Amino acid sequence: MKHRVTLIPGDGIGPEVSAAAQRCIEATGINIEWEVALAGEEALQKTGSLLPTATLESIKKNKVALKGPITTPIGGGFRSVNVAIRHALDLYACVRPAKYYPGIKSYYKDIDLVIIRENSEDLYAGIEFEQGKNETLKLIHDISAYCKKDIRDDSGISIKPISRFASERIVRYAFEYALQYKRKKITVITKANIMKFTDGLFLTVAREVARDYKNRIIFEEALVDNMAMQLVQKPHNYDCLVLPNLYGDILSDLCAGLVGGLGIAPGSNIGIDMAVFEAVHGSAPKYRGMNKVNPTAMILSGVLMLRYLKEDKAANILENALRDILSEKQFVTYDLKPTPNDASAVGTIEMADAIIKRIKHK
Ligand code: NAD
Repeated sequence: MKHRVTLIPGDGIGPEVSAAAQRCIEATGINIEWEVALAGEEALQKTGSLLPTATLESIKKNKVALKGPITTPIGGGFRSVNVAIRHALDLYACVRPAKYYPGIKSYYKDIDLVIIRENSEDLYAGIEFEQGKNETLKLIHDISAYCKKDIRDDSGISIKPISRFASERIVRYAFEYALQYKRKKITVITKANIMKFTDGLFLTVAREVARDYKNRIIFEEALVDNMAMQLVQKPHNYDCLVLPNLYGDILSDLCAGLVGGLGIAPGSNIGIDMAVFEAVHGSAPKYRGMNKVNPTAMILSGVLMLRYLKEDKAANILENALRDILSEKQFVTYDLKPTPNDASAVGTIEMADAIIKRIKHK
């Protein structure tokens, strides 16, 4: 079957890792036509928009996209293009596997966790009020009067909406995912003891949904602070984690660290009938254009994309070739070598070449 996929190279190291993933996916022999669409810095230069309408239309039409990372400045400036894509297309489930591959430097072995992060609400909703603005001051006075609590006048305010609808949708997705991929346990992670009406609601809904899966999937609850410690001490005790947006973002990086770092952590953003696949890592601007960074996270995002397209054979071919190259540790980037200055490290292009060669010679 022929697939049409939107390819968004992104910026920073995005174009390099996207090109590597694109070549490796093509090497599996699947019939794929790429429609290149811009977002981020290059899009701004060429079209005057960070996220051109044509890019969103391309994803809506093709239903599947592979996306490189895109830079978001900290503090002022524009809001994240990545978050804008997730919101515009209602890609409500962010699925990030953290799986150990032999050969990778890591404190742990045999880790196989999946993080399922709510992608549409929480402090990522982008409802913010800037310090010093009149509307912020008015809001501060209204809230102070309403809840009889002091908020300093020179505060900035971010709003954390968590709805019953979105909580049920993500928790149900997590349970269905667990059934589909033969997972045993779901752990719901919140700070419900402190944020009773937001995280508390998420937890209440999770408990309700869990009843529908009783005797099929084990259900557990944890607080996010304790979970950060448990994951470092006993990661093997966990299987699928389902979380509100911000905790999901933070624990995804923690879990990437458990299996060897950001260079190998893939991800997907899933909606009702479309999906965007991207690495967990960002655009690492200091490595831009150096042919240095690890393409594994983007290639594994491609593996997830192939599985979504029901191209399991191609997904297995690509994952096995990558597994070989990782375990042999010869044609790998600097971050996968025993020391970062190892002279035998290869570049992004050469690591992709080695994977492609392995696919062709199997
Ligand atoms: P980052 O993930 O870009 O990089 C942090 C560090 O991780 C790098 O300096 C590097 O040491 C390492 N790293 C990341 N990717 C690697 C790879 N493929 N191979 C080897 N090492 C790798 O995080 P950051 O520096 O916090 O963010 C840079 C920019 O990316 C920011 O503007 C941020 O907002 C953006 N970002 C984008 C996305 C996305 O597009 N989905 C995700 C996260 C961050």
